[in-house]
Amino acid sequence: MPDRRPLVAGNWKMNGVAASLTEIDAIGDGLIDPPCDVAICPPATLIAAAVERAKNTPLMIGGQDCHMAEKGAHTGDLSAEMIADAGGKLVIVGHSERRTDHGEADALVRAKAEAGWRAGLLVILCIGETEAERRAGDTLAVLDRQLAGSLPDGADAHRLVIAYEPVWAIGTGLTPSNDDIQTAHAHIRQRLVATVGNNGAAIRVLYGGSVKPGNADEILPLPDVDGALVGGASLKAADFLAIVAAA
Ligand code: PEP
Repeated sequence: MPDRRPLVAGNWKMNGVAASLTEIDAIGDGLIDPPCDVAICPPATLIAAAVERAKNTPLMIGGQDCHMAEKGAHTGDLSAEMIADAGGKLVIVGHSERRTDHGEADALVRAKAEAGWRAGLLVILCIGETEAERRAGDTLAVLDRQLAGSLPDGADAHRLVIAYEPVWAIGTGLTPSNDDIQTAHAHIRQRLVATVGNNGAAIRVLYGGSVKPGNADEILPLPDVDGALVGGASLKAADFLAIVAAA
């Protein structure tokens, strides 16, 4: 079985101002010989400052999204190269809030993942079903469709992480049962192996959706769960570090 070092990544979304950098300090200082890779993706305005504050710690800093192009006339957008230039090491693409708020479809998510690779970033590619899709029994088919549409050729464990995030579990306090999480993750892993070959087994698959200190101990040890993508609970260093400790 390939050695998959877990990754716990925090997504601050549209939260955080300069004063919030004290949380970056506390997270960085709290990472003494961490049992996993650890990252925070703050809003774009804080990436460079967070990189500076985390520089003597194992904490990696990343972006929450990127444009597919390297540069150009795209007002308000951020390229993967800009994230890398600011010292970012990773980028999230395909988050359900981008898919919903900005109408991002699989083909665009794929182009963004390729942009992340072009800039040398680790890409966290998010997939997950809506509540209606789950009720219709379509969860695994949706994951297949999203993977088929958004996974670029040439994926490997050094530059790709998948985050399984059921849309209905994000920010709601709801989570699938442990069995359902394990089933989805095992299915994703099987699809990765079928698509990219044996290397696919080494690609980390994170769970995301209402992970908290109170449930991390149950979710993170599941056999095909290789860490977590954490929204709300990543905003406070103490909560986030408790989740890291569970990895
Ligand atoms: C997310 O937005 O990626 C997420 C998992 O959010 P939360 O942990 O708040 O559900």
